[in-house]
Amino acid sequence: MPPIKIAVIGAGMAGLKAASTLHKVGMDITVFEKSRGLGGRLASRRTEFGHFNHGAQYITARHPGFNTFLQQATDHNAAQEWQPNLHRGTPPDATPSDAPTHAGNLALDPWYQGVPQMNKLIRPLVEPFEIQKQHRITSIEPLTPQTFMLHDDLDGEFGPFDGVIVTAPAPQTAELLRPLSSRFDPIGDVVIAPCWSVMAAFKKPLPTAFDAMLYPSPEISWAARSTQNKDIFHRRTPDHWVLHASPNWSRDHLEEDKDRVIEKLLSALRTASGIKLPDLQTVQAHRWRYARTEIPLGRSHLNGMNGRVIAAGDWCLGARVEAAWRSGQSAAHAMIETLIG
Ligand SMILES: Cc1cc2nc3c(=O)[nH]c(=O)nc-3n(C[C@H](O)[C@H](O)[C@H](O)COP(=O)(O)OP(=O)(O)OC[C@H]3O[C@@H](n4cnc5c(N)ncnc54)[C@H](O)[C@@H]3O)c2cc1C
Repeated sequence: MPPIKIAVIGAGMAGLKAASTLHKVGMDITVFEKSRGLGGRLASRRTEFGHFNHGAQYITARHPGFNTFLQQATDHNAAQEWQPNLHRGTPPDATPSDAPTHAGNLALDPWYQGVPQMNKLIRPLVEPFEIQKQHRITSIEPLTPQTFMLHDDLDGEFGPFDGVIVTAPAPQTAELLRPLSSRFDPIGDVVIAPCWSVMAAFKKPLPTAFDAMLYPSPEISWAARSTQNKDIFHRRTPDHWVLHASPNWSRDHLEEDKDRVIEKLLSALRTASGIKLPDLQTVQAHRWRYARTEIPLGRSHLNGMNGRVIAAGDWCLGARVEAAWRSGQSAAHAMIETLIG
């Protein structure tokens, strides 16, 4: 019998977890990713002054399976524990129950980072299956009740596939799946906040004892120094910081020019920290239109088309890398149940 052919859309944590789980049971997997790199929001940008992790900042594990994954990643030198010296501010609109649960070396759960950059965390999941990079899937066409063709933005056509798992952020997944079945309508209830991220390399170290600041100001929800990444480019530049604007600020400034965003967030950092910022070697901004889930689906995945098309991603369960891993795993198990039993 020919192997079962599955297409996975998205090469972030959810897509690669689903792909590797299905590959291990002998299915023939093709992953389609619209970007040049893998990892999705486990992102790292290379500049001439070093790398910046401008997406996810640290990973925690509460589920035993994901904890095992992090341990394996650590054994493969793809992850390591991170214990920044953390300053905790107050979240905007905080209620007592909103108080952050982690505090650097006082963390309840250990914090991990991918090494040498965050996007390397997915390394243990990259098996010898096909990965088609720079292919943005624009539609899924049912060919028969059991098979599907995919179309991309370059007029490419791929398939037929026996099953499809879509792991793009909820609004992009909804665009692909809602034309297929009303079973995917609940994706429309998911809410994901945007996030402006600023990457700044300073010519001198910032005179602060903190490596990371949680909610230092209403504008900034997170500011962190890169303390692990010591590649040659980093050694040439004394201090690297990543700032993340708060969800409300990011929403209010979503269409703002990048230079203005940089100016405003550095000014907010200056005010919040009370320090004069050293001269910059480089500074860049990145807008995450879909960054952190605020209202998740509340189920680990959604399926339709007789279980052969599945939606997954962090947004099913929460706002964390662990949620993506769990959703990808659950989507793969559901596909195995449908196609193998
Ligand atoms: C600024 C920021 C800070 C964060 N901080 C943390 C943190 O500290 N800790 C934490 O645990 N989590 C954090 N997160 C959340 C974490 O990054 C995500 O939960 C997780 O990485 C999501 O994984 P995913 O696979 O579900 O989605 P993604 O990583 O978004 O992967 C989806 C992939 O699908 C691709 N794609 C989309 N549409 C298409 C298409 N049509 N065709 C082909 N490919 C497509 C995308 O390019 C992407 O690679 C943060 C996120 C951001 C943005």
